[in-house]
Amino acid sequence: MKEHALNLDRYPAYIYDLAGLEAHVKSIRAALGPTELFYAAKANPDAEILRTLASHVDGVEVSSGGELTHVRETLPKTRIAFGGPGKTPQELSLALHADRVHVESPSELTRLAGEGFANILLRANLPLTTPDAALTMNGPFGMDEDTLNECAYMLADNPQLTLRGIHAHLASGLDAPTMLGLAAQITEWALPWLKSLGVNNPELNVGGGMAVDYSSPDSRFDWQTYGTGLSLIPAKVRIEPGRAITAYHGWYVTDVLDVKTTRGETYAILRGGTHHLRTPVTKGHDQPFLALTASGMKIPVTLVGQLCTPKDVFARNVLAPPLIPGDIIAFTMAGAYAWNISHHDFLMHPKPAFHYIR
Ligand SMILES: *Cc1c(COP(=O)(O)O)cnc(C)c1O
Repeated sequence: MKEHALNLDRYPAYIYDLAGLEAHVKSIRAALGPTELFYAAKANPDAEILRTLASHVDGVEVSSGGELTHVRETLPKTRIAFGGPGKTPQELSLALHADRVHVESPSELTRLAGEGFANILLRANLPLTTPDAALTMNGPFGMDEDTLNECAYMLADNPQLTLRGIHAHLASGLDAPTMLGLAAQITEWALPWLKSLGVNNPELNVGGGMAVDYSSPDSRFDWQTYGTGLSLIPAKVRIEPGRAITAYHGWYVTDVLDVKTTRGETYAILRGGTHHLRTPVTKGHDQPFLALTASGMKIPVTLVGQLCTPKDVFARNVLAPPLIPGDIIAFTMAGAYAWNISHHDFLMHPKPAFHYIR
């Protein structure tokens, strides 16, 4: 990666380590045993990434008609689970081409009813306790117990729509023991409920949200503990992580344009900005980085981009060797919720180039 990053013909650029990504997903797959692994495309739907993951996952989870069409085109044979709130009529007819549809409301079910055959997971919003979650997915997502019962009633006399189980993506940023605790709470409610409805071979999709610690680039979610715990659940279990699969194998590489000290604070102004890598702004963290060319005793510096807004900060008051214009900086952990969640057109700078290492 480093060699490649130093020899690019222009900056900024994204570099994806596809070989590293493949090794990573293989180890996750091995740790999961019988649990099915779907990749949440919204974390990074780059076609090369999807192709790299394809033979190591059981399917892909999509959250829009656009994602569904893109994944179908990129990986024609892969299984697809289609979720997300506020599905349009067009999206609901596309949903019939998915292997599983995650239904979010009774009205969605009503609209799906006229369309054709579908296998349904009802998305549950259960009153579970989630300590320390980075993001709790309550609010408009999923349904409470009364509404789930209403859906079950509607499904009971619809020959085209088959209830297969429950979907529950409840929080993100959790460690393996906490996630297992949540999965146990979901199981405890869902299996008796599905059994009472006569669902054979019930399926539980317990979502994504495995923790990624940006302050500790070498740490990883404990897939072994998680996989072992999930394998004890007496049902067909499926998970759909995004961030914890792709975060580690993307770099945003750029060069220093200017360095200045204003009112005691030193700033390095980098080519590009958070309109290419929005992750540190949305997550409120310092993006981990490597100063690839500079050397010397580390001093505090704030790494910013070219945008005319004080929010354009990659990392604030972090330690780096003294930087000069032309130095190369690689922001690591930029493989998920990075380029594809960023506001690319703000200020109309050139877009980064994309490189793939195999
Ligand atoms: C975003 C999302 C995921 C993936 O979450 P990560 O934090 O990237 O693992 C999975 N399922 C649903 C329903 C989501 O909305």
